[in-house]
Amino acid sequence: MFDSLIDQEQPIRFLTAILQGGAIPHALLFTGIEGIGKQTSAIAFAMASNCTDSIIDDKHKKSSVSGPCRKCRSCKKIISGNHPDIILIKPSGSFIKVDQIRNLCSSLAMKPYEARLRVILIPDAQAMNPEASNALLKVLEEPPDRTLFILTAVRLSDLLPTIVSRCQHIRFNPISPKNLEIFLVEKQGLDSHGAMIIAAMANGSISKALSMNRTNWIKRKNWIITEVESLSSGTTGSILAFAEMLSQKKETLSDSLEIINTWFRDLVLFRYYPEKIINKDLIDRIQSISQKIMISSLLSKIKAVESAQKDILANTNSRLTIEVLIMRLAKV
Ligand SMILES: [Zn+2]
Repeated sequence: MFDSLIDQEQPIRFLTAILQGGAIPHALLFTGIEGIGKQTSAIAFAMASNCTDSIIDDKHKKSSVSGPCRKCRSCKKIISGNHPDIILIKPSGSFIKVDQIRNLCSSLAMKPYEARLRVILIPDAQAMNPEASNALLKVLEEPPDRTLFILTAVRLSDLLPTIVSRCQHIRFNPISPKNLEIFLVEKQGLDSHGAMIIAAMANGSISKALSMNRTNWIKRKNWIITEVESLSSGTTGSILAFAEMLSQKKETLSDSLEIINTWFRDLVLFRYYPEKIINKDLIDRIQSISQKIMISSLLSKIKAVESAQKDILANTNSRLTIEVLIMRLAKV
């Protein structure tokens, strides 16, 4: 049932055991970074516990936990988002507000319409404001019958400890670069170099890897590297223009800095462990450049990038930070 998940053996074992054992807790809490299958698992779990074609009995235990049929009325309704007992609570604006939880609570006072197990999905549980959290806590303290809450969040610390203590916690893992690479080649048809580079830079997240692929990330990466390499021969005007282009795009700024950092790291790495570089698509360039630059100069560039990355995280003036960085990188 969880066959689309990668590198999540422990969560799968745990969820399968719950389905097999039949003792379903009142609330589950899935944590982990974006894009590793938390929500997919929550929906698969809701389907498996309500599928009418996989009746759980001793004789058929094995087949029943192999997953929901995806064809019965219940499965189809859940897939299309039209099941009256599978309720999704999403932030309205930036928060999940107390009224949303209160409305939910009053609907939970009634029995489920048709489900064996009613499932309340709260995918961005960290978006609950304190009032909403406290309202939810009241329900979790006196859980309604045949109802399961599945909360998801990035970190445990994003939620009130009192909420966490009412939930069974399941941690989802970032996906290993190797398995992400295999996924990109086998399921998305990427070439092996492209898949390797994206897998190395996607921080273990499938959704990040997919969006990198969609948005021509490798092309952008190579543009940034070309610009960085031509800095030392550029005019002050062109250097500042590049700095402005980078700092204007706030949503890609930290990614751009990571690209620059990785580039200089590759130039150092190439001398000692050439097989470990990330920009394998640029190996010829790396080979010719790395012979010309002193290691000490590369290390000080890496240091400059890291200090800029720290400043950006600390929310300093990003334009100024990037200008200073680019001027430093322009020095030979
Ligand atoms: Zn089914």
